[in-house]
Amino acid sequence: MTRASALIWTLGVFLSCLLLQQAHGFELAQSVRRTRHHHSYGWQSPIEFDLRCMIWRNYPEYLGLQTDYTPARANVEIHHDDTLQVTFLSSAGTFTHNKITYDLQQFHFHHPPEHTFRSYPYVCDDDDLTTQRPRRDEFVLEMHLVHQTPDAKIAVIGVLFKLGKPNRFLNKFWDFIPDVEEGSPVGVDDIDAADLDLSDVFIQYMGSLTTTPYTENVFWTVTCGNWNTISKEQLERLQNKLPGANNRVTQPWNGRKVYLNFPYDDDDSKIRQDASSLLQSS
Ligand SMILES: [Zn+2]
Repeated sequence: MTRASALIWTLGVFLSCLLLQQAHGFELAQSVRRTRHHHSYGWQSPIEFDLRCMIWRNYPEYLGLQTDYTPARANVEIHHDDTLQVTFLSSAGTFTHNKITYDLQQFHFHHPPEHTFRSYPYVCDDDDLTTQRPRRDEFVLEMHLVHQTPDAKIAVIGVLFKLGKPNRFLNKFWDFIPDVEEGSPVGVDDIDAADLDLSDVFIQYMGSLTTTPYTENVFWTVTCGNWNTISKEQLERLQNKLPGANNRVTQPWNGRKVYLNFPYDDDDSKIRQDASSLLQSS
C-alpha cells in the first residue's frame, strides 16, 4: 500500500465512522422522540372515577350541559378495524363550554366501556388509583361524541350504557351494522344526537384521546345519572361485528381536578345524598 492510498483508506474509515455515528445519533434522537410520544405521563384518558375524590360543583339549571344537536346525514363505518364510527357529513350541531363552541364531528363506541367507577375501599391517592381493583361491571358500552373547534380544540362527551330496553337512538343505524365494512361505509339520513338521553349530572376533567396519537388537552364530559340502555340483542349485534375489546385501560389522575356537576338546589345536602346514591343504585 502506498502512502497516498493508506491515507485515503484511513480517511475513508474515519468518514464512514463519522457517518455511522451521525446516523446512530439520529436514530437515537428519533427513538427518544418516539418514546416521549408513546409514553406520556401527563393527563391521559380514560380514568377511573371516585365520587369522593371529585370536586362537587352545583350549577344553575340553565347552565347544564350545553348541547344543541340537529339531525344530519352520516356515514356508518368500521374504523381502524376496531370500532363502529358514525361520521357526520354535514353540521350535526354543537357543544358549548366556557364560551367555546365545538362542532360535533363523529361518534364511536367502546366495548367494554373505558371510564370506570371505583368500588370500595377507596383512597384518594394517585398511585393507588392506577392499581387494578374489582370494579362495577354494569356498564356494557361507552359512546364518545367527538367535537372540535375550527382551531382544533377537542371536546368529547362520553355516554355510558347499561343492559336494558332497546335504545331508540341506536336503532336509527344499528340495523346497518352487519353490512358495514372498513372502507365501505353506509350512508344514513337524519341521525340526531339530541335523541340521546344526556343527564344533567356529569363529570368533567382534562384528558386525552384514548387511541393513537393520545393527544392531550381534550376536554372530557362523562354523563352519569340517566343511564342510557342497550338491549342484549343490540349489544350482540355489535359484538358479532367487533368481537375484540377496544377499550384503553384507565390512566393515573396525575393531580388533575375532576368535577362532578349537578343542578343547583337550595337543599345542598339532599343533592349530595342523591348524587351519592346515583352510583350506589347503578
Ligand atoms: Zn373513543
